[in-house]
Amino acid sequence: MVSRGQLSRVHVRAPGKINVFLKVGALQDDGYHDVAIAYQAVSLSEDVIVTPADDFSVSVTGSVELGRVPVDGSNIAITAARLLAAKTGYRGGAHIAIEKHVPVTGGMGGGSADAAATLVACDALWGTELPRDDMYELARRLGADVPFALTGGTAIGTGRGDELSPALASGTFQWVLALADFGLSTPAVYQELDAHRERHARDIFPADPSPSVDTDVLQALRAGDPHMLAAAMHNDLQAPALHLEPGLGDVLELGERNGALAGIVSGSGPTVAFLAADLDAALELQVALSAAQLNVVRATGPVHGARIIAD
Ligand code: ATP
Repeated sequence: MVSRGQLSRVHVRAPGKINVFLKVGALQDDGYHDVAIAYQAVSLSEDVIVTPADDFSVSVTGSVELGRVPVDGSNIAITAARLLAAKTGYRGGAHIAIEKHVPVTGGMGGGSADAAATLVACDALWGTELPRDDMYELARRLGADVPFALTGGTAIGTGRGDELSPALASGTFQWVLALADFGLSTPAVYQELDAHRERHARDIFPADPSPSVDTDVLQALRAGDPHMLAAAMHNDLQAPALHLEPGLGDVLELGERNGALAGIVSGSGPTVAFLAADLDAALELQVALSAAQLNVVRATGPVHGARIIAD
């Protein structure tokens, strides 16, 4: 059902993210945790091109290992397109071509970026003009990281991570990312954290039920100062990720020995993000880690959220 006046193609780019701070609250009765996250959108991004079709389909290409990406209706991009169609009463479909550059199951929100890009792309393709608040509501239903992929930049996420408030930020941060050739399941990493907290309940402080982002992180982001940010970065999911994949500890050490200001497991991992002092330091670190046979890419942040590319 291609209607007259409809665009023939819309291209949207949406960013992957690094959680420069992630604190996980106590396990709640419903099995979820509240979190406090400082998100930074980075220049490793996903390109989504949608074209009109009678039903919904997806194809996936890209520079990362694609084996774990579904190409049927379980792809989150198709879920996003169907959700938008249902919300707006649109009766046609779309073919969604995804070009992936964010590592799959890497803790950098690649699937979330695809979902956000698809919402923006189909809304433009179909001319449905969904109000901004409704778009955010759909994004939240798709996953906790999807609203941030819409906004991009630098933001604080609380609740499930999807209650966003913008953070003041200046400057550009230089990152070197060590990509793993395996994935880590986010639920498995959370389960490992819960099991650790239960095992050591007598020795550690109980987790804060409603955590917040440390003020020194906010100051570092506001100042655009990589040295301050390196000192303030933290991720509660790093220890359980290292427990599940001990080899990540060697990666962290290697980066820090080769000039990184600090390294952090991104989200639930296994991508390790190293913060460099400047572009030269990032280039040197990239060379050193590549020489050690690691698969590394450079990225900068913050960058824009999902937006239409004119091409
Ligand atoms: P996050 O950091 O948001 O927890 P992630 O970056 O670790 O996520 P993703 O690459 O977003 O992980 O994907 C997680 C799972 O979602 C994979 O197991 C994959 O099978 C499934 N999936 C569904 N659609 C997609 C998609 N478009 N791209 C990648 N994975 C997808």
